[in-house]
Amino acid sequence: GLESRGVSAWFGTHKVLDRVSLTMQPGQVTALIGPSGCGKSTYLRILNRMHEMVRTAGLAGEVLLDGEDVYAPGRRPADVRRRIGMVFQRPNPFPGMSLYDNVASGLKLAGIKVSRDHRDHLVQSSLERAGLWNEVRNRLRTPGGSLSGGQQQRLCIARSLAVSPDVLLMDEPCSALDPTSTRRVEETIAELRGRLTIVIVTHNMQQAQRVSQSCAFFLATHDTPGRIVEAGDTEQVFGDPADPRTADYVNGRF
Ligand code: ATP
Ligand code: MG
Repeated sequence: GLESRGVSAWFGTHKVLDRVSLTMQPGQVTALIGPSGCGKSTYLRILNRMHEMVRTAGLAGEVLLDGEDVYAPGRRPADVRRRIGMVFQRPNPFPGMSLYDNVASGLKLAGIKVSRDHRDHLVQSSLERAGLWNEVRNRLRTPGGSLSGGQQQRLCIARSLAVSPDVLLMDEPCSALDPTSTRRVEETIAELRGRLTIVIVTHNMQQAQRVSQSCAFFLATHDTPGRIVEAGDTEQVFGDPADPRTADYVNGRF
């Protein structure tokens, strides 16, 4: 699994996260919820070492993947990103590249060399796991940009899965999608559950309850950086929240 211990983050002198500690269990879906600007996306980027791409970014604390420090000196960021995949709010396939090459591109970027047969197999199984194979099996040579938005998002999920990550981070993966596509992506998440550690940021409280088993509520105020107010089983966080601010948020009162 994936764990953060006392993670704090800054952009220049602006502190945006304060001592965030959270354990994301393997085989489970963990939902991160909280108002806009409380640091959810920043936290996801810290988990897979994209945060350090921002020149002014500062960081304290630890991130552990299966007990090993993701920020250990000598550990390559590219290796971390192969094991911890990310799917973004707006589907970002390579629009001019074929569906097949889109999925296979993850292998190439990660420097994973495989035989042609094995690559065919990985592309198919990744598309199957992303719930897209049946829709695209006869058009693998068409460009990524020719798919609908929801199909493009599942293509991006397939691209992440091709390198067999241990963790899949999803930052509002359905907020640009229509309800039907959203359902398909949720079905995909349900299928993937149990095989890897999944972390999803969502503003949709129904979605958090449908897809996740654990949940963390983040909150920032005008003068306090983002921190976790409450984390626990999704049923408990939504049904019997311990903190009144959690109750207000999950019931749509702010
Ligand atoms: P939303 O729900 O709107 O996506 P969020 O919880 O994902 O919000 P973040 O995007 O992580 O919030 O932003 C947290 C804080 O960090 C905000 O105050 C934001 O302005 C700031 N921030 C994010 N990225 C940068 C950056 N590259 N440089 C400076 N400040 C940043
Ligand atoms: Mg965000």
